[in-house]
Amino acid sequence: MSERIRKIIHVDMDCFFAAVEMRDFPEYRGRPLAVGGSEKQRGVISTCNYEARKFGVRSAMPTGRAIQLCPNLLVVPGRMNVYKQVSGQIRAIFERYTAIIEPLSLDEAYLDVTDATLYRGSATLIAEAIRSDIFNELHLTASAGVAPIKFLAKVASDINKPNGQFVIPPNQVQQVVDKLPLEKIPGVGKVSLEKLHQAGFYLCEDIKQADYRELLHKFGRQGESLWKRSHGIDEREVVTERERKSVGVERTFSHNIRSYDECWQVIEQKLYPELEVRLAKASPDKAIIKQGIKVKFADFQLTTIEHIHPQLDLDDFRQLLRDVLQRQNGREIRLLGLSVMLKPEDRSKQLSFF
Ligand SMILES: [Mg+2]
Repeated sequence: MSERIRKIIHVDMDCFFAAVEMRDFPEYRGRPLAVGGSEKQRGVISTCNYEARKFGVRSAMPTGRAIQLCPNLLVVPGRMNVYKQVSGQIRAIFERYTAIIEPLSLDEAYLDVTDATLYRGSATLIAEAIRSDIFNELHLTASAGVAPIKFLAKVASDINKPNGQFVIPPNQVQQVVDKLPLEKIPGVGKVSLEKLHQAGFYLCEDIKQADYRELLHKFGRQGESLWKRSHGIDEREVVTERERKSVGVERTFSHNIRSYDECWQVIEQKLYPELEVRLAKASPDKAIIKQGIKVKFADFQLTTIEHIHPQLDLDDFRQLLRDVLQRQNGREIRLLGLSVMLKPEDRSKQLSFF
């Protein structure tokens, strides 16, 4: 994998379920509306429009509580089949611009447009075009965020919501990240936020200035992830459904390792047996097309190597390990992973996702 700068768009529909209802039923417009379960059945709100949000109604709130806050709230049960169908139409619009699409839910997706050719590859213009296609063709609004890394694209799509977009260019990443409150980082929930505040951490720059080992000690895996995000690091690729058809195992070391022999020992004794088990569970009868090794070096650079190989094969990983360590340049290794890619299923089957 190269170090080149990526262009990632996060597209997020504005109060999607409620917006579809307002589009299809004009009588719902201009009044507080929510899609959700009924109060009688102790349901919860799944989405609400902006009129309802003014009263403090939120997703995942019990419907009874929402009605207390907003007595005029109209709660409708929702039409999941329609939302799925619209989601498919939105996806078809994305596909005009890139093939690398990672849906997060029916109304939200990451797009990698690094190699897109339309609009001379301008992610800003592509995001605008996608939003105007959605508006013109589906009569719905979307917000978008553009950034070189995933989590910031998601943060950015929230900034000018609804019906807006925000771009974080590569040279402004650190500046934006520094002033970012920790609760804006996807995955930081109420409980961890409280813990972070107790430890005196409010903004990413607080984390950046903290001692890495102390963070790891206090917050474990999340500490590591926060440390990375606070340095503007997010190596996660935009993963399409097709690519997701893979099985992998990995290990982050508490003490970095360095030599081929140390790596091989981990692979032979730990990772390979884990991979065998995982594979047997995940997809016992699927054909394998590739196997690969992932290495993360002490400086957090992540590299992967894979080659076409029709079966799981321990010996074959020896050569892959030799090859991938060619990229080591004296660096220590903090993570090792093995993966196999499975033969994709029929495209027609995958469409059922939407
Ligand atoms: Mg949304």
